[in-house]
Amino acid sequence: MNKKQIALKRAADLRNRVQDYLDVKDTIPRGMAPDQQAKSKDKKQRILDHFKASEENWNDYKWQLKNRISDVDTLTKLTSLDEDEVLAVEQVGKKFRWSISPYYLSLIDDDDRYDPIKLQSIPTVAELTEEGLADPMAEEFTNPAGAITRRYPDRVIINVTNQCAMYCRHCQRRRNIGSDDHHTSRKKLEESIAYIRDNPEIRDVLITGGDALLLADASLDWLLGELHSIKSVELIRLGSRVLATMPQRITDRLVNILKKYPPLYINTQFNHPKELTEDVKEACDKLATAGIPLGNQAVLLNGINNDKYVMRLLNQELLKFRIRPYYIFHAKRVVGTTHFRTSVDDGIEIMEYLRGYTSGMAIPTYIINAPQGHGKTPIAPQYLVSRGKDHLMIRTWEGKVFEYPNRPTPDLKELV
Ligand code: SF4
Repeated sequence: MNKKQIALKRAADLRNRVQDYLDVKDTIPRGMAPDQQAKSKDKKQRILDHFKASEENWNDYKWQLKNRISDVDTLTKLTSLDEDEVLAVEQVGKKFRWSISPYYLSLIDDDDRYDPIKLQSIPTVAELTEEGLADPMAEEFTNPAGAITRRYPDRVIINVTNQCAMYCRHCQRRRNIGSDDHHTSRKKLEESIAYIRDNPEIRDVLITGGDALLLADASLDWLLGELHSIKSVELIRLGSRVLATMPQRITDRLVNILKKYPPLYINTQFNHPKELTEDVKEACDKLATAGIPLGNQAVLLNGINNDKYVMRLLNQELLKFRIRPYYIFHAKRVVGTTHFRTSVDDGIEIMEYLRGYTSGMAIPTYIINAPQGHGKTPIAPQYLVSRGKDHLMIRTWEGKVFEYPNRPTPDLKELV
């Protein structure tokens, strides 16, 4: 075979490697697919009619927040649920809070009982199990001051609110959600800022909650300004899911505040390609254009995304929205959410079918949070088969095993 023939044969082999994905890709619900867009548009109109509201109301995040659906009567008027499902919502509602922004509700496909948006937002009977723990990360032992959580040497979390646009059924911080919305007091925030100022080894501050972007513009501006003025703080991160659950929150005014405090990163959470819609794209474009890098922290969720094709599509779509896939978290054993937990094998299989099959940019790190808050532990398929003093055995993404030389690093100063 000549060079061209070899290259053509290799190209055909490579295409065969993704043929299974290409065969199913278009069957996975996607927020940008025309049929999904049409369904969401109809549902949005139904919701607007119910609230006697306008397009202008819809685009106003304060309207979205004020009109979150959190009672069974309204929910059943706007979504098809059978008797058992309604009963489950009533029962779970006595134990755990639920609330859904009109926007997120408009994405539910009533023809699909197992719709990934529905499963993430509407309570089911599976939440009533007693299995699991309230605080598997032992966060209550990691609060040295104010509203701070500290688990690592150089970075801390400030928890600024327990409010969210939608209370995810898989929420890993469910114990913080409680039964009503409240923001952290100014006094506690001031204590947190003082702690960071007094501990100059802290160079990275993550503001989260709840949802950091549910703080009012003025409060966010003040908090970011205070943190930005601390010399030892090199970067600020915001943890927010509003991009997925209420993209209307990304107003020009908010973007103008955020861009005053570089380097500022936003980490968000998309778990399914159906959550990536035209409205989300517009919001991401505003943030990315303002120079705010976006990262995604998906949660591996049974029945929603524990599928190698769904995860590949999700991560590829995220890049189109200018969001860099960052983590896939293995779901913790949080009470009321354990039905969403998958085997670790599911996560490893997903990672196996990302590496090599798609761009490295589309590959997040799969993480298990070690028990009792002992930190994020990356889990990956085994590529290092063995490691000797003189050589390694490595396995490629296609499963080919090669010997690779190992040797001590020479002293560069002796060589140049
Ligand atoms: S947005 Fe985050 S904190 Fe809020 S309910 Fe969902 S997962 Fe929990």
